[in-house]
Amino acid sequence: MTVTAYCSCSKCCGRHAAGYFASGEKAYWGGIAADWRLLPVGTKVEIQGFIGTFQVEDTGRVIRGARLDIWMPTHDEAKEFGCQRLWVARNNQ
Ligand SMILES: [Zn+2]
Repeated sequence: MTVTAYCSCSKCCGRHAAGYFASGEKAYWGGIAADWRLLPVGTKVEIQGFIGTFQVEDTGRVIRGARLDIWMPTHDEAKEFGCQRLWVARNNQ
């Protein structure tokens, strides 16, 4: 999937920059944005190169189809991550 990263700043989230995911949860490391038609909120996934499980908490206008957006605590980290093609698997545990 195409994987990008974002943070809670106004550059990434515009007027929605309140530090909360669309699910209502406070933003945390491990939360990701996805297309809820493909990966509904609450879906757990593993992402190539990362340890642990991520959970779909957020979505966005540009997050469509085979696309994930990983929440990161700082804008610099999100910017450095850029845009990568990574293997993503649903974690059904
Ligand atoms: Zn940002």
